[in-house]
Amino acid sequence: MSAAAKPTPAPANFLRTVIEQDLAAGTYDGRHFGGSPGDAAHHAAGAVDPARIRTRFPPEPNGYLHVGHAKSICLNFGLARDFGGICHLRFDDTNPEKEEQEYVDAIVEMVRWLGFDWETGGTSHLYYASNYFDFMYRAAETLIERGLAYVDEQTPEQMRANRGDFSTPGTDSPFRSRTPAENLTRFREMRDGLHADGAMVLRAKIDMASPNINLRDPALYRIKRAHHHNTGDRWCIYPMYTYAHPIEDALEGITHSFCTLEFEDQRPFYDWLLGQLADAGLLARPCPKQVEFGRLNLTYVITSKRKLKALVDEKIVTGWDDPRMPTLAGLRRRGYTPAAVRRMADDTGASKTNIWLDYAVLEQCLRDDLEGQAPRAMAVIDPVPLVLTNWSELFGAEHREPCHAPAHPQHPAWGLRQFSLGPEVWIERDDFAEVPPKGFFRLFPGNKVRLKYGMVIECTGCEKDAEGRITRVLATVVPDTKSGTPGADAVKVKGNITWVGVHDAVATELRLYDRLFREAQPDAGDRDFREALNPDSLRVTRGWLEPSLAGWPAERHVQFERHGYFVSDRKDHRADAPVFNRVTGLKDGWGGK
Ligand code: ATP
Ligand code: MG
Repeated sequence: MSAAAKPTPAPANFLRTVIEQDLAAGTYDGRHFGGSPGDAAHHAAGAVDPARIRTRFPPEPNGYLHVGHAKSICLNFGLARDFGGICHLRFDDTNPEKEEQEYVDAIVEMVRWLGFDWETGGTSHLYYASNYFDFMYRAAETLIERGLAYVDEQTPEQMRANRGDFSTPGTDSPFRSRTPAENLTRFREMRDGLHADGAMVLRAKIDMASPNINLRDPALYRIKRAHHHNTGDRWCIYPMYTYAHPIEDALEGITHSFCTLEFEDQRPFYDWLLGQLADAGLLARPCPKQVEFGRLNLTYVITSKRKLKALVDEKIVTGWDDPRMPTLAGLRRRGYTPAAVRRMADDTGASKTNIWLDYAVLEQCLRDDLEGQAPRAMAVIDPVPLVLTNWSELFGAEHREPCHAPAHPQHPAWGLRQFSLGPEVWIERDDFAEVPPKGFFRLFPGNKVRLKYGMVIECTGCEKDAEGRITRVLATVVPDTKSGTPGADAVKVKGNITWVGVHDAVATELRLYDRLFREAQPDAGDRDFREALNPDSLRVTRGWLEPSLAGWPAERHVQFERHGYFVSDRKDHRADAPVFNRVTGLKDGWGGK
């Protein structure tokens, strides 16, 4: 399906409806915002929030962002923008074990690259959940004091066994009836490092018989002696994600907390926790509202961070930004534009079901974006020399015939590219056939073609080496047929081939990327995604560029005529040692060849 061919009514997005209804009902009217995250008193002291809604994008800094995250970024930042709100970038860094500064930096860079920012009116809304550890601790003591949380010393196995399952209610822990005073003492001992990792946890006291297993006294805090990238060794207890996340939202004055469907069963706990802490006067009302939407999955791509990390660690790819990776860093290096990624995200709207999007749709969004902005050039990817045997006789051996072509057919203001024709040019190996297959209009003995923007030539044969491989194609120039001259149309030809003069060609490395996986759902079921790898996902070769690309800057797109879109590699390209990545072909098709 071509995205270009699709009609353009706004895609269904039920999150818009949720926001519109809240705005119409005045649900969040008159909310105060303290200028920064904080508790109820902090926000009460602030002015009425100028942001009509607040959303957030909350990545865990344990890997690079991927195309699925782009969906969440575009939704959260896009909805805030569209409704006069503000979107926070929040690092959900409450788990000390896997998080690193490298990931924090990469995430900031890629959200910016996508075109979003979190500065409004001189305030930066970039936050770290780990800065809320003090509040989270205080909130936990409050829950304990109110008889709503207890320290459980059962072993993890006992806890699991006593949780019950869908058909069996859970069993109360023997520690469930401890007094608040006892629990407080124990919890402080946990904090002060008096107990071993895993010896006990703090649990909410809700209902061990609840039909929703997430309400059967979920864990709130665990003991874990681990160095944290932000708080160092200050804490040896860390909050659980399900406890931390609602509190983070509330402290930041978030109105709409959009998350993916798998959190639906957590919503009752989200509401319970915030309701209790608001009743206790710790958190401001109205509380944030969690709304779940369907994940975006892309065919031929995996988006589990764990699996992406395995690709990097096992050196199946060269790094997180390998141009075959579905990370935003990889897509960028491959040549995807922020506008193409945003378009894909916007066109897919939001619904209550997880969706699978054909990778071809993303590719088409990219072509639609590049078509109008990538200058054109000729390049020869699989070169063989073509010798014009009557050149000297017609023009003299030293003659070079100046030729030109528009830099872009739709942008005359961009001017002309200049190059020249001489006695020897590079052409594509497959533009010549000794014995032409049916319907082949390019070079074969006796056939005439035009060297695009140059002259008509007639093929006379070829030369081969001892192995029978063609080393040179031979042709003669048909006089007075130069493009743009009165004689140009005198000789009709069916084929028009691209070429680059041997005398003025620029040598380049070409990285011909293809899909990393052969299967539409590489990690479906229990399958090991390694078995679905495409062995031809990268071919590195050397080719020739027309001279207009001499001195080309890094990370700049170009359309190689007949071949497709390429981009100079943002890391390895040098003006004097070019490296071009194939982005995508001109038409839909496997690998776009
Ligand atoms: P993983 O489970 O692979 O670590 P994650 O989804 O847990 O990935 P986070 O860093 O927690 O990674 O994600 C940040 C936000 O991006 C979350 O709100 C999450 O729901 C959202 N998100 C992640 N993947 C997708 C996806 N495929 N479609 C839409 N939103 C997504
Ligand atoms: Mg996560």
